[in-house]
Amino acid sequence: MSTIAAISTGQAAGGIGIVRISGENALPIADAVFRAHSGKSLQTLGGYRAALGTVMAGDVAVDEAIATVFRAPKSYTGEDVVELSCHGGLFVTRQVLRAVLQSGAVPAEAGEFTKRAFLNGKLDLTEAEAVMQLIGAQGEQASLAALGALDGLLSQRIAEISANLKAVSAALAAWVDYPDEEIEDLSDETIAKTLDGSTAALEQLISRFDSGRAVLEGVDTAIVGKPNVGKSTLMNLLTGTEKSIVTEIAGTTRDVVEETANVGGITLRLSDTAGLRETTDSVERIGVARARKKIERAALILAVFDASVPLTQEDEALIALCKGKKAVALLNKSDLPQAFGKAALDAAFSHVVCVSAKARTGLDALETAIADILGTADFDPSAATLMNERQLACCRAALQNLQEAKAALDGGLTRDAVNVSIDAAIEDLDTLTGARATESVVNEIFSRFCVGK
Ligand code: GDP
Repeated sequence: MSTIAAISTGQAAGGIGIVRISGENALPIADAVFRAHSGKSLQTLGGYRAALGTVMAGDVAVDEAIATVFRAPKSYTGEDVVELSCHGGLFVTRQVLRAVLQSGAVPAEAGEFTKRAFLNGKLDLTEAEAVMQLIGAQGEQASLAALGALDGLLSQRIAEISANLKAVSAALAAWVDYPDEEIEDLSDETIAKTLDGSTAALEQLISRFDSGRAVLEGVDTAIVGKPNVGKSTLMNLLTGTEKSIVTEIAGTTRDVVEETANVGGITLRLSDTAGLRETTDSVERIGVARARKKIERAALILAVFDASVPLTQEDEALIALCKGKKAVALLNKSDLPQAFGKAALDAAFSHVVCVSAKARTGLDALETAIADILGTADFDPSAATLMNERQLACCRAALQNLQEAKAALDGGLTRDAVNVSIDAAIEDLDTLTGARATESVVNEIFSRFCVGK
């Protein structure tokens, strides 16, 4: 396999920039560009050793750097690895990479270091996917959950389920394959117990998916309400920026402005909207149309009402649009005398909170309502969490096969027929962890990584 290299740190000026080299020629290639001040060749160093020296492009010194040596298999990829930690200027790190490539390394593809780690058995697919989640994590809960998966929490959970099924499958297969031997048949009760236990475990993982996703990826959130109820003010409060324009003229927030806010550890991807009023103004009409679409697409809706004036037809239209959706009603301007109370919205919304975007009150109640709606209130980042649709699909497929196995058992079909479905479920779980994933699936997963990881 070729020796690969890439800049593994962010593509921006920084204190340190790391060029990572991995493969069987990592040490000779690093030696070709690196002159240790001690005069020693890197090839004489053991694993986890570092040397200070100069990176050379031919006869020209490019940078002072520290070379850290990792010996196979004790490295991230499981191969020999050298990391050249140089000064973090973009130009400098690129020069160092160029020198390394000229000495025989090939540019690493997106995710190739982690892919090699997977192929060398350093981590399974769920752990590799956790690496990606961890890099993209925007909040504490998300990083804790990703770190848990990286530690193998999900793999272990899947391995437990799979091991129970494999035990039953092996016993059934032995009984079917060696009818003449005195092998004791498993009782229906024993088989049913394992099937039920595994089914429950998978159902639990699947039921946690939505809240896990909310924690890991954030939630598409629409802030809606007629003009002037305080949407922009609320958005600015939540995001802590002044990005959307706040004015006292009705209908001035004309476009959809995307921002993120962190509310109680959950990332909300917010969109400000132009209000829901039908209008003859062509510019604003585009905004209104987008707002309607946004409601359809949003996973969470913050519906804002001005509680200091009576509800209008426009408010009623909004209430109708929000019905049956995951929506919080916000009675804004609660610092002013109230024209109506929570009771007016109780019928349409499961959660109604009084806030004042201007006086910055009511945010705790909003936080609680959001966590309650998304099911993130009692989300435990230290429990096994499915991280993406691929993993969910594998679990669903396994679940269906277990249900078929149970139906076969209940229907009095042969042990062989029961076992076909159990084996199919085991295969689904192996696909999840990557023990059986096809090359194209593996390639697809790693292509979504960044270069250098
Ligand atoms: P939008 O059109 O829904 O985005 O509303 P804005 O955020 O632009 O607010 C409209 C007006 O209401 C502005 O003058 C805000 O200062 C005012 N406003 C917003 N929130 C509150 C609040 O909680 N209390 C009071 N008294 N005024 C508010």
